[in-house]
Amino acid sequence: MDVRTIMLVFSALTLMFACLLALAGRYAGEIKGVWHWALAHLLIGVGFAVAYFSHDAAELHIWSAIMASVLVAAGITLELAGIQLFKAQRVSWTFGLIVVFAILISGIWFSVLHNDAGARAIVNSIFLALLFGACARQLFVTVEKPLRVAFWLTGLSFSLMTLLLLVRAIMIYQMPPESYGLLKNIPLNPITFFIASMLQMAATFGFILMIDYRLVTELRKMASHDHLTGAFNRRRLEEEAERVQARSLRTGDVMAVMMVDVDHFKQVNDRYGHQVGDEVLRRLAKTVTSIIRVDDYFARYGGEEFCILLPSTTAAEAMQLAERLRAAYAALTFDFVSKPFKSTISIGIADSVQISPDFAQLLLAADKALYQAKGTGRNRVMVYAVAA
Ligand code: GH3
Ligand code: MG
Ligand code: MG
Repeated sequence: MDVRTIMLVFSALTLMFACLLALAGRYAGEIKGVWHWALAHLLIGVGFAVAYFSHDAAELHIWSAIMASVLVAAGITLELAGIQLFKAQRVSWTFGLIVVFAILISGIWFSVLHNDAGARAIVNSIFLALLFGACARQLFVTVEKPLRVAFWLTGLSFSLMTLLLLVRAIMIYQMPPESYGLLKNIPLNPITFFIASMLQMAATFGFILMIDYRLVTELRKMASHDHLTGAFNRRRLEEEAERVQARSLRTGDVMAVMMVDVDHFKQVNDRYGHQVGDEVLRRLAKTVTSIIRVDDYFARYGGEEFCILLPSTTAAEAMQLAERLRAAYAALTFDFVSKPFKSTISIGIADSVQISPDFAQLLLAADKALYQAKGTGRNRVMVYAVAA
């Protein structure tokens, strides 16, 4: 293994990853930071190509070597920014730019002004380790739960890279003076360059996995949630209902279904416009979410009709909840239009003791109860047994 071959291979691979990430960035949609990673790979790839040409068997061209380190540091700074953007955080460039500048100055200091290859390598390693450490930290703190594995894998690669560079700095420090040099025939160079290349590629795979996990998570959310209100959609509700129904049949546990419908909602639309209507639906969804339990399932059934599936709940218990919900919604004032207005909801309830644990039948019964609530004046809660 010789350092130059590793540099050339790693440079080519990194440039290929730059293209891959740029292509991924084109379709990343809302996912931020992918372009930063593409550009980072371009800089690191070019940096390693420059490093390859910075020395041949006989000579080290010092300005090229300095430029290579600066390009690599700039690339890692972009990776750090990309991670922050991916996490929807504000990008802080200061730290990265300080490190890039420090690498440039120390490179000039320890080569052009005082020729000390060992000191230059130690300082470079420590500064790059700081950058990698900053990336690792970003990947371990406050990460989205479904993406944790991908974050951790990338973070682990950066942590190992930090460790590797610190070990390298210590090893060079312990060598006798003058015995370190990029061209010198010591195993430290090819070994550290090889491991570093592998770890940087592992970090790239990790980041691509982060993009993949994020996309899948977003698609899953889109496939199961209503875009306007954030509530489950009908499909997800039916899937959850199947599970709750099966459990209810097995254990004999009671379950209740609640149908919620906005009163005279058409008038809201007609008077104030659809956008105001949409906001009313969002506020209703917010109110419901703040009142129901975490194990209740709240879905938009269609239009301005919502369904709440309540496991382990009787109609009497659901009645209390519905009453609180009705009162909380009726207490809202929609004051984002010139003439503030109020709105009400009607609710129909049925439970599996009265009907059966069959969700479709429960839904039908709750709908009938809702119809009764509408027929008897609206802004009220009706239980099916009472209505029947
Ligand atoms: P009732 O008290 O009998 O329920 O009267 P209503 O006017 O609420 O009932 P109706 O079913 O006649 O009207 C429902 C309206 O909901 C009609 C439709 O335009 C509106 N709607 C359905 N989906 C949306 C939506 O996503 N946004 C908005 N703004 N309006 C919607
Ligand atoms: Mg309505
Ligand atoms: Mg309706």
